[in-house]
Amino acid sequence: MSKRLLLVGAGHAHLEILNRLRNESWRQVDVCMITPSPYQYYSGMFSGYTEGLYSEEDIRVDIRQLANAANVHWIPKKAAFIKPQQKKIVCEDGSVYPFDVVSFDIGSKSLPLSFEDSAARTIKPNYEFTDQIRTLRETTKPLIVGGGAAGTELAMSIQAYKDKHKIPGQVRVITSDRILADGPKWVSARLKKLLEKKGVRVWQNEHVEEVFEEFVKTDNGNRVRHTGVLWLGGAIGDPIFEKSSLAIDERSFALVRSTLQFRDYDYIFGAGDCVTMIDYPSLPKSGVYAVRQGPVLWQNLKSYLSGLPLDSFVPQKNALYILSTGGKKGFLVYGPVSSHNKKAWQLKNKIDREFMAKYK
Ligand SMILES: Cc1cc2nc3c(=O)[nH]c(=O)nc-3n(C[C@H](O)[C@H](O)[C@H](O)COP(=O)(O)OP(=O)(O)OC[C@H]3O[C@@H](n4cnc5c(N)ncnc54)[C@H](O)[C@@H]3O)c2cc1C
Repeated sequence: MSKRLLLVGAGHAHLEILNRLRNESWRQVDVCMITPSPYQYYSGMFSGYTEGLYSEEDIRVDIRQLANAANVHWIPKKAAFIKPQQKKIVCEDGSVYPFDVVSFDIGSKSLPLSFEDSAARTIKPNYEFTDQIRTLRETTKPLIVGGGAAGTELAMSIQAYKDKHKIPGQVRVITSDRILADGPKWVSARLKKLLEKKGVRVWQNEHVEEVFEEFVKTDNGNRVRHTGVLWLGGAIGDPIFEKSSLAIDERSFALVRSTLQFRDYDYIFGAGDCVTMIDYPSLPKSGVYAVRQGPVLWQNLKSYLSGLPLDSFVPQKNALYILSTGGKKGFLVYGPVSSHNKKAWQLKNKIDREFMAKYK
């Protein structure tokens, strides 16, 4: 009897599974992918799209095509919760999919529940990105909440787009900590200076408490005017795991062992932003790790289905980050090293284009 493997979400690690299934099919395993959009958008190229350097086709993978070539059945739905004991996934429309093994790579959310009914916008799930950014970059006072890598990169890209197309206005960034708070202080200071040089207005150490149609209110009593708010205040887990009574961390990410199996279930796997590794709880929610987990997830799903021992995922100590700063320049950060030049952007462009070429 054949077994069913359900892949939920078309995140980076699952793209790797689809890609490998193009060349190696598993005997007696029926593979299905549940993911709502026919496209998976690649966040590494969001800044270039925003600035106008890449087209929509450049930054997305066609899931229908890839799944078809991999002999995987694509189910265009959104998973709502899981019945772990009964081995069933229930989708938002009420349809139910039984499985023998399931794997999650559904990414993260960015908008906190308390702001869901406010004027704040989100680019998650990632297929919302192009529509949101096309509207925002045309307005005069786009405001980004969040001064991490994603927030600062998009702020500079929107500003670069405005400058290039002579669209009046100034991008604003409000962050509750310093800019790039995860990095060394001097890197934060350098990036803040760069943002201001590019014409972006920055508020540090201010927490946005309320979002209204035309302004936001901060904990310092500031009212900052805007023409659209994009919330990039850090990754939050999808409520799906909590709703399904699965073990989660304090931000609602599912807890997984080093084999990428959920803490309490051998037949539930997960990778990317949606999981927290019990052995590495502070691993950043970043595409780099989702990509690196892909080959281990592939091997472990295969081994589990054949009754073989599983491998462990060991994350690299330092990851390379290159933020696009506009005008084909990049701000490179690797451990304590940082630099800002055209070469850094060229390297980023090469890495991102090579990544996408694998799935075209
Ligand atoms: C502007 C921006 C720039 C970034 N740049 C970088 C960068 O340069 N380098 C880097 O390492 N990281 C970057 N990141 C972070 C990176 O985007 C995330 O860490 C990464 O996308 C996580 O990948 P993932 O595989 O976990 O999921 P995602 O890439 O988010 O994919 C999740 C998938 O699951 C699907 N899905 C969601 N919910 C459900 C559901 N309930 N049922 C079924 N399917 C579902 C979605 O449609 C999507 O296909 C950036 C983030 C942003 C916002």
